[in-house]
Amino acid sequence: MVNDSFDNSMLKSDLLAMLQAEHPTMCRRWFDDIRVLGVTGGVILIQIMEPVQLKYLQRCCVQQFADAAQSVTGRLLGVRFVGDESEETQPSARLVSGDSVVLGAAPEEDMLISPDYNFDSFVIGPGNRLAHAAATAVSSRPGQAYNPLFIHGGVGLGKTHLLQSICQTAMRLHGSMKIYYVSCNGFMTQFLGAVQAGEMSLFRNKFRAFDMLVIDDIHDLSKRDQTQEEFFHTFNTLFQSGKQIVLSSDAPPGEIPYLEERLISRFGCGLVASVDPPGFETRVAILTQKAKMRGVELSDDVASYVASQLDANIRQLEGAITKLQGVAMLDQVEITLALAKQVIGGRAVSEQVKNTSIQDILDCISGFYDIKLTDLLSKKRHKSITVPRQVGMWLSRKHTRFSLEEIGGYFGGRDHTTVMHAIKSIDTKRGADDFFQREITTIEAQLSDKVGRIAR
Ligand code: ADP
Ligand code: MG
Repeated sequence: MVNDSFDNSMLKSDLLAMLQAEHPTMCRRWFDDIRVLGVTGGVILIQIMEPVQLKYLQRCCVQQFADAAQSVTGRLLGVRFVGDESEETQPSARLVSGDSVVLGAAPEEDMLISPDYNFDSFVIGPGNRLAHAAATAVSSRPGQAYNPLFIHGGVGLGKTHLLQSICQTAMRLHGSMKIYYVSCNGFMTQFLGAVQAGEMSLFRNKFRAFDMLVIDDIHDLSKRDQTQEEFFHTFNTLFQSGKQIVLSSDAPPGEIPYLEERLISRFGCGLVASVDPPGFETRVAILTQKAKMRGVELSDDVASYVASQLDANIRQLEGAITKLQGVAMLDQVEITLALAKQVIGGRAVSEQVKNTSIQDILDCISGFYDIKLTDLLSKKRHKSITVPRQVGMWLSRKHTRFSLEEIGGYFGGRDHTTVMHAIKSIDTKRGADDFFQREITTIEAQLSDKVGRIAR
């Protein structure tokens, strides 16, 4: 390799140090496994043997590496990531993910398998033990252990992590398997693209040729009649020829609204396993594991403290690590319990409450239900307006600190008994109607996006 007079191993350590300084949250311990092959023609060649890691670097890290390379060498350099060069000659498992699709219109979705999501980094606890065991069984004996494997649970509880772990492990264990990982939305986009381009047979051939089809967030099929129909046939073809199907969803099959009966019964005919929120000890273990992966020192007392403060889901825990890492880097201090208390403490639960205004809620409601603000605040009593209005009051009670009177004031000058009544009736409706509950969850997610959560 022509090497414009750089010492490769020194270049590597300088590069990694620069990345650690500039992009601490991007860095992973496995970055240590990269090899700088040399500099040629203004490009640094960097090798990584693991295909999933290679793909990830190529997709997500080129710019950061190039910037770092330019800083440490003082030269205008590009970066190219290459894999195991002997690979061309050996057949290996193929992992096709949403981005490499050639059908019809280019899919919006370009899903990527994250090197972070593997079984080694997955912490097992009482809430996910069964799902994890089933996932490992499926990856070692695809099509034989549990088929389909259906994993369901709330947001941020590890479904995507498990699905991607299955893909990575199956890829490693089964040389020639064709594995396809895609989100349900990715599947739909490709399907609609194929319909529009008149390429349905191409679409069918593609999907029915996989040995393992892994679809994330299958609940998104809800209300998509045409896609449900198509997916039903894809499912049957694969299933009947013993191909493995793995699905994740935010609800068990029978509770996905507007899902056809025949799909419900198929989704439930293998193993249905849930992932439940982690208890305190599992949260501590996850924090410790995530910190280790990112090369962050987290003492036991800090991990316990953070785990005791944050219990909604695991993304929140990761956000806390990112935040602590950021503050510690910026102020050049260690992550101590005192720092954690200062950064996370007290604010964890209330940050969103503090930040949310009733205007945010009104905006979300009028956007979600597609009704005018003036109607929302008017005296109109049509159901299409009263329910959204009540949802707005309910959300205001939950997400802001305003009193019942104040909320009533914002919602067109209603008195506090009206607000109280609204809250009660929404609570009753939520309990009795899953679909309605999901609507509320969706609005809350939009609200939280709007307001911007703590620890992001
Ligand atoms: P979901 O798909 O269920 O919404 P994800 O799989 O995206 O959730 O998980 C959210 C984050 O939490 C990810 O970064 C994931 O690595 C992490 N996570 C979830 N469960 C675990 C676990 N048991 N061990 C380690 N990390 C976890
Ligand atoms: Mg997910």
